[in-house]
Amino acid sequence: MPTFKAIVITKTEGGTAAALTDFDDAELMDGDVTLRPQWSTVNYKDGLAITGKGPVVRRFPMIAGVDAAATVEASSHPDWKAGDEVILNGWSCGETHLGMFAQKARVKGDWLIARPAGLSGREAMAIGTAGYTAMLAVMALERAGIIPGNGPMIVTGAAGGVGSIAVALLATQGYHVVASTGRTSEADYLKDLGATDVIARAELTGPVRPLAKERFAGGIDSVGGTTLANVLSMTRHGGAIAACGLAGGMDLPATVAPFILRGVSLLGIESVYIPLARRREAWARLEKNLDRRKLARMTEEIDLGGVIEAGRKIVEGQVRGRLAVRIG
Ligand code: NDP
Repeated sequence: MPTFKAIVITKTEGGTAAALTDFDDAELMDGDVTLRPQWSTVNYKDGLAITGKGPVVRRFPMIAGVDAAATVEASSHPDWKAGDEVILNGWSCGETHLGMFAQKARVKGDWLIARPAGLSGREAMAIGTAGYTAMLAVMALERAGIIPGNGPMIVTGAAGGVGSIAVALLATQGYHVVASTGRTSEADYLKDLGATDVIARAELTGPVRPLAKERFAGGIDSVGGTTLANVLSMTRHGGAIAACGLAGGMDLPATVAPFILRGVSLLGIESVYIPLARRREAWARLEKNLDRRKLARMTEEIDLGGVIEAGRKIVEGQVRGRLAVRIG
């Protein structure tokens, strides 16, 4: 029976367990495209799946991994043929559909987009869902009328994956970026990515007032909880905050004051099921706007053997920037 290597999550008596092991080809799920993932990446959600710290996995056994840059091995889908280079982000892979920390995968062709010619597979996964989500957030802010020159933009969880790419993207677009981090030792790293100011996470975790001093024209928040509530209370009249994460908590202990007294907008960012047209737009923008030198500086490379340890580290907030996982 042919097999391939994969990070497989199984159910145990006490919870779940993750291991790098052999997986039977015959156990692959239905789909009209068979892929050879060449690169993947470790996102926060992958860390939750690997450690069992969040209810991400809803089928067992599960292959973890929500992202891949892959080569099409075989296809009965009209859009794809053997040899095509594609990107997959989300679509429940690593949750209910077998995921991408694997030498082989079978998916729906409708989930794939062509990898932009200007991005290598490694670069595409150095970006990964974290970076593509940061781009979706930038696009949402633009649609809300938040343009460079409006004033300072806050990025929370700035030394993490979404945060690092958000800082780089906003700075390249000409925004004044204020990076908030719990790791102020990473101030030089964040300034190198384009942050004008670096502030301590603690500035945004105090008691939440309905309205605080107006500091930010907009921002990208990957932390949630008290941090997001404080950011909203500090957002200027007519500003907007794109919320995409919960690294600091799922709750939102805010009041409606910023919305009804300052016209602040809270923009929800969801990357897993958004339509292909918006995905293609985000990836085209990443190909065009993301500084590759900065991307290289924020990226560390590991292989499948390093994924489980990386998953543990990312949920503890110990990963800086992005991890590219070499598979092929
Ligand atoms: P990372 O772990 O790389 O980054 C998260 C960062 O948040 C950390 O680096 C840290 O930054 C900060 N942080 C961690 N714990 C806390 C805490 N307790 N309080 C305050 N800040 C904290 O994860 P990602 O960037 O990959 O993902 C960030 C979030 O975005 C996650 O919640 C993830 O699930 C979500 N996400 C959502 C998507 C969507 O579709 N909506 C898609 C992708 C990600 P620092 O050290 O700088 O303070």
